[in-house]
This record gives sequence, structure tokens and C-alpha cells, in this order.
Amino acid sequence: MEKIDIKDDEVAIFAVGGLGEIGKNTYGIQYKDEIIVIDAGVKFPEDDLLGVDYVIPDYTYLVENIDKIKGLFITHGHEDHIGAIGFFLQAVNVPVYAPPLALALIKGKLEERKMLRNANLNEINEDSVFNFDNIKVDFFQTTHSIPDTLGIAVHTPAGVVVETGDFKFDLTPVTHQPPNLQRMAKLGSGGVLALMSDSTNAERPEFTKSEAWVQKSVEQIFDRTTKGRIIFATFASNMSRVKMAMEAGVRHGRKIAVYGRSMETAVRNGRELGYLDVPDEYMLEPQDLKKTPADETLIMSTGSQGEPMAALARIAAGTHKQIKLQPGDTVIFSSNPIPGNTASVNKVINELEEGGANVIYGSINNIHTSGHGGQEEQKLMLSLIKPQIFMPVHGEYRMLKIHGKLATDVGVDPDNVFIQENGDVLAISKERGARVAGHFPAEDIYVDGSRIGDISSAVVRERQKLSQDGLVVITATINMETKEILSGPDFLSRGFIYMRESGDLINEGRKVAFNVILKAMNQDGANEASIRDAVVEEMGRYLFNKTARRPIVIPTLIRVK
Ligand SMILES: [Zn+2]
Ligand SMILES: [Zn+2]
Repeated sequence: MEKIDIKDDEVAIFAVGGLGEIGKNTYGIQYKDEIIVIDAGVKFPEDDLLGVDYVIPDYTYLVENIDKIKGLFITHGHEDHIGAIGFFLQAVNVPVYAPPLALALIKGKLEERKMLRNANLNEINEDSVFNFDNIKVDFFQTTHSIPDTLGIAVHTPAGVVVETGDFKFDLTPVTHQPPNLQRMAKLGSGGVLALMSDSTNAERPEFTKSEAWVQKSVEQIFDRTTKGRIIFATFASNMSRVKMAMEAGVRHGRKIAVYGRSMETAVRNGRELGYLDVPDEYMLEPQDLKKTPADETLIMSTGSQGEPMAALARIAAGTHKQIKLQPGDTVIFSSNPIPGNTASVNKVINELEEGGANVIYGSINNIHTSGHGGQEEQKLMLSLIKPQIFMPVHGEYRMLKIHGKLATDVGVDPDNVFIQENGDVLAISKERGARVAGHFPAEDIYVDGSRIGDISSAVVRERQKLSQDGLVVITATINMETKEILSGPDFLSRGFIYMRESGDLINEGRKVAFNVILKAMNQDGANEASIRDAVVEEMGRYLFNKTARRPIVIPTLIRVK
């Protein structure tokens, strides 16, 4: 690994993951021989990463510097901030500090992987303070779509670095945990060297609406829905939404049944930690659902993104064991389809409506707002914190870029805005400003099932090619001494061409393969490997010319001598 040279009057900031992407947020702040790590997120693979369950960051730099790491500090309990915790602790088992809800979710994850006993877990809140040799860490409360969301300030002799975590400025949060504007302003007036801030909604020129606005709509829907059951679908991770729906249920005399594993976990954690104010007598066991009158029933369900295995899709398709759709049911989708999920969401909505349900969805019904601040809130954060150096984080490249421009609009020197990549180490001093002090490897690591790094990007590319362009196997029996082809070549294809209808291509292809093998056998120093390479290359080119596709070509040579 290249030498990363950080001077004694510099504090270094970097992303192990989270730049150029939404996901695997993992940031580091380093002063001398102390490192504070913030978040251990996962990224969910795009559809074209076949057979990959998770994408996690490359932890090599952290592993090599494990002695310096003082702890992993968690901003909040979303998957893109805690989802890789098991893999992270396998690589670097350091103390974890997390706010209550995130901590409960982390415990659940580690328990599943039988890693709980070896983990050093600690609860924090916005009043926690940590003093290490040179570094002090403290916090400020922010608002988001989940309770217990913290921003983090890291005080070093070289200056203060602030990482916001995910935030919007919700001045009337349903969680009753307002953003601590005073503390942010105090940090700013004390002087902040560098700010790393959430860029998710940098493309939206607005001030994100409060959850209280959604709550009003939800309340109105409950008011006017006097007949039939209400089925409420949202992200289980959106505790604010879960809270307003369940508490509206209680106020309207509806008993609540909860379906979907992540929703059950969320409701259990939420009630245990006191975020959900739902008396026991309002909670329904599955077997009691049938005995409860329809207009006294609220069903909380996962599947607001149309996920085929989630409770809602199975209710819609009529394959759910316990819940059959009834005419007169009102189904509320309180989330926006993530781009790419629109078709599956529409399918579920169609099925529900065909089944006689009244479906309420979309922004026209005012039942969703983002958990992230728009441009106005990003500018507000920049104005409160007033950093000398700005590094936008948590976003794809174009979001980072726009966020960088917003910073200059509110007075940050354009030369002090740094759009970085994962693995870039930015070393900052008050006097000299910032410079890139080096780079460490930070490629995506693919996780297939529970195995880390077993799949390389080469394997994924191979799977992509297989799924798109198929496979061609060319088999021949050869005699290397007499330079003869004794049988074949035979031509077998899977997922590439339908063989019965492509006799010409196969016949011609066999002739081409025959000549390729013969020519390769007669080259000086020919061996099996060189023949195989020639088949892959020449046949690949031939098939591409004929079909404009690039199947994987696998030569199988049987050598008699
Ligand atoms: Zn979040
Ligand atoms: Zn996030």
C-alpha cells in the first residue's frame, strides 16, 4: 500500500465507502495515531450484480491501522450505516458506540451471526463525550426518518471535523427529538475546520416537508376510513412512519397486527425503547385477527416497494397464509417507489385494486416525505457549521458536485470544496488548507451469502456475460505429436443460440474452430494453453461478428498424445 503521509499539524479525513454511491457509508477521521471511524454501512447490489447479496467496503486500510482505531461511532440505525457491522467487526473488532435504536438493531444482527459475545457495544446519546489521547468526540441531535440520529464532532489539535450523518431539518418531528440547532451553531461559532455532510437530496431545490405534515394526512385517512380494515405498508426502518400509523390506529380504536419480519423487529424494538406508544391491549396476535371486526383492525406490513416475498405482495397475490384481501380494505402505501421498483409496486397496486381494496398511494395523497434535507437544508447546515473545508459525502457523484456548488453559494471558498473518491485521504491544516495525502484501496467487495470476498468483480462480470450472452463450449480431441484433430470440434451452446434453428452458424462455426485449432497446434511452442487461448479469442471474434453478442467461450481439449 502506498505510504500515506499525514503531518502532525494535519487532521486527515477519508471515506472507506459512501462517496460516489448511496450505501456502505464508512468514514474515517485521523489525527496522529488515532482514528475515529464513523458508520459501517452496506450497499445493496444493483440488479445486474448477479448472485451478490451485499456490497461492503474494502477494510484493508482499517485492518492495517487497527491499533490506531479508537472506536466505531454509529450515526443511526439504517442499513447503509450499520448493515455491514458483522463484516466490519470480523475485520476490525473495535468498541462500537451507537445510539439506542441503532444499538438494538446492531445487537439483533450480531446475535444472528453468533457474534454478540465478542462485541464491545456501548450506548451513546447526544450528551455523550469521549476523550482519547488527542481527540475528543461529541455529538448533536439531528432529524431523519428514524429516531436517535446523531451528527458527530471530532475535536483534534489540528481542528474540528463535523460529520452530519443523515439529516433533514424537521422542526416538528413525530419522534419529539428536534434537531439541536443551538449545538450546531455553537460548533460553527467555535470554528470548524472541515464538514462532511449528507448529499442525498442535493438535486432537490427545496426544504423537505416535516413528518408532521404526513401525520396530518395519515390522521385524515384514518378519520374518513370508517369501514373495513386498514393495511399500512411502509419501510420498517422508517420508525417515524410506523409510529404515526400505529398511534393513529390506537386513537381510532383499531387493534394492530404486524406482518413481515423486519416490521415485527421494528415494532418490538420501538415499543421496548419507548418510541411507539401502543398499549398491549391494542396488539393483536395473528390468531386473533379473524375474530376482530374489520373496522377495528389495522395491519402493519412490509412490502411497500412491491418486494415479491414481502407480506403485502403475498396478500395482494392471495398467497398469504393468514391474511386474505377483503373488499372494503383500505391499503396505504406510505413510501415512494425507489427508481427501479416502480413496476413491481404498480403490479401490487393493480392486484390489490382488482381484489376490491381501496389503495392510497403517491404524493397526491400527501403520505410521504423524504428523510433527507433538500438544498435549503443543506445550505442551512453549511451556514450553521461554517466550515473552512467542505467535503460532501453520502451521494452519487452528481449529488456531491451539486452539494459542493451549494457550499460555495453560502460562502465556502471554491478552492476549499473537495469532491473526493473512496480511498482518497484528505489531509487538512488550518494554515495550509487541504491536500490529497494519498490513497488506499477502496474497491467494492461482493458478498455472496455469508462469504466475504469470494466473488471478485471478474466472477460477477462472468455471471453478467452468461446471463446476457450465454455460453459456447467447443470440444475437440487432438493429437499434439501428429498435429491432428481426431474428432470434433463439437459446438455446444447454452443461452446463446437455439441450436436447432441455427444449423448454418453451427456448421460454419465448427469449420472456423477446426481451422483455429489446426493453426494454433502448428505454431512454434504450441501447447494446450496456447490452443485454448486461440480458440477463446478467434471464436469470440467470429461469434461477435456473426451475432453481435459475446458469449463465454469454453474450449475443452481432449489430448490423446
Ligand atoms: Zn438514514
Ligand atoms: Zn444513509
